[in-house]
Amino acid sequence: MEHSKLVAFSLKCNACSRAWSITEEDFEKGIIKCQDPECGNEFTVYEGIKNGLKAEENIIPNPFLANDMIIDNIKIRIGYTYTFELPENVSKVYKIQLFPFGPFLAGVTEISKNNFQIFTSLPNGSDSSQVGNESSVMLLVNAKTDDYEEPWLHFLSYAYDHYLSNDFLTSIMLSEIAFETYVDKTLTAEYLNRGLDEDSVYRLLKATDMYQKVNPLMCNLYGAKLKSCKQWPDWSKRVLEWRNQIAHGTKKTATKEEALLAYQTIVDCIFYFVEAVDRYNKKISN
Ligand SMILES: [Zn+2]
Repeated sequence: MEHSKLVAFSLKCNACSRAWSITEEDFEKGIIKCQDPECGNEFTVYEGIKNGLKAEENIIPNPFLANDMIIDNIKIRIGYTYTFELPENVSKVYKIQLFPFGPFLAGVTEISKNNFQIFTSLPNGSDSSQVGNESSVMLLVNAKTDDYEEPWLHFLSYAYDHYLSNDFLTSIMLSEIAFETYVDKTLTAEYLNRGLDEDSVYRLLKATDMYQKVNPLMCNLYGAKLKSCKQWPDWSKRVLEWRNQIAHGTKKTATKEEALLAYQTIVDCIFYFVEAVDRYNKKISN
């Protein structure tokens, strides 16, 4: 079994829509030049990541969701069913592609995070004496394995996952929770860094609402408030409102457009702060 870990983050050019895996060097460069020589577009590493996170699915699932790829070649007998066991660290299967070697059909059923069934059959009108013949099937599985250490990344990836599954209410909730988790984690890290004890930080954050956290508190520590960000009206008047309405039971349905707006707004808000924290860290290390 071949097993290739994909980089969960990709960079995507917004001029030509080319995408590729991010590397450590890209962060050092800061400004990225599109890999397509005919495009030549330049963008910041954070613009590229944001575009990558918002990338719509195509043939291969977005690596932010499916960060692992399993390739195998299995021996089969035509007309028989096989169980394919997945590695233990798989948490969700996104896509399974089968490539039968020969004039027979192959499909999958009973897909779980542990295994799935492969069945094979002959097309209508085939010579039935081929049943039982040996052949092989190549399979390609795109799956998510748990490798993010950061809870906010999990929430964000599952927000996108629920958006793609048309579960829009859950998607909006998870997008906003991803943002709140990111903000709390980022505030906590710097308060502890400045010598506050964990209990006091916990009490401070518990007693403070989101408006205070994303404006004065983030500004006091990192010099950036969400109010100055282009996404402020969409976040404060829509995403946060929807989250409260959903949590309190007054918003019972959501549209695809609302869920997409929430997800994209949150990606932008998180990276607005990621960039601010990065600027702050560079400033204090100089
Ligand atoms: Zn490009």
